[in-house]
Amino acid sequence: MSLNLFIIGPSGCGKTTQAKLIAEKYNLTHISMGQLLRDEMAAKSGYGLEAKGYIDNGKLVPDDLAFDVLINKLKTINFANFIIDGFPRVLNQGRIIEFYLRKNNSPITAVIHLTLSFEQISARRAKAGTEFQDKDRTDNNPQEIANRQAFYDDNIDSVREYFESKGKFIDIDGNRPIEPIFEDIVKEIEKIK
Ligand code: AMP
Repeated sequence: MSLNLFIIGPSGCGKTTQAKLIAEKYNLTHISMGQLLRDEMAAKSGYGLEAKGYIDNGKLVPDDLAFDVLINKLKTINFANFIIDGFPRVLNQGRIIEFYLRKNNSPITAVIHLTLSFEQISARRAKAGTEFQDKDRTDNNPQEIANRQAFYDDNIDSVREYFESKGKFIDIDGNRPIEPIFEDIVKEIEKIK
């Protein structure tokens, strides 16, 4: 059975860091939804040009755009053995990817959710200072960060409910150093793989 993982959480929760570690341990392809979109922008593709206005304002790109870009990438790896960070961010995305992967006989193994409050993330940001910032990102000013957080707050419950009903949602306390978070994720993966 392939290992098809998703990792989500509020902006700044450390999901990309964890996704990279998990990918390395289980030999998975790491896909960052935000990075896929930034790559499209850098390439000035049609997708990238459409995405730019949304990303630069800290807004989500339309579901069909995110989905198309993601599916193009997943096709190159036969829809199997991956960890995707930053998708699904809304219920509709969760539904369509769940359905799509099931149809391709490569169902979702689990959606891992890093839990962390806005206050906890702000404290981390303050501590890390500018080092925390990803230098090629143009969408990390306070207003855009707040927009992303509000969007997360509005959407996480419905995403959680949907994947919980399928027994595929895993909460991990994200307000800890990298190693214990990683260890907990590994424990959960070992239970289900
Ligand atoms: P991230 O690197 O995960 O913080 O994502 C950066 C930006 O890419 C977000 O602010 C959105 O504009 C866009 N983006 C990332 N993931 C998604 C998604 N699942 N759906 C729509 N837009 C997304």
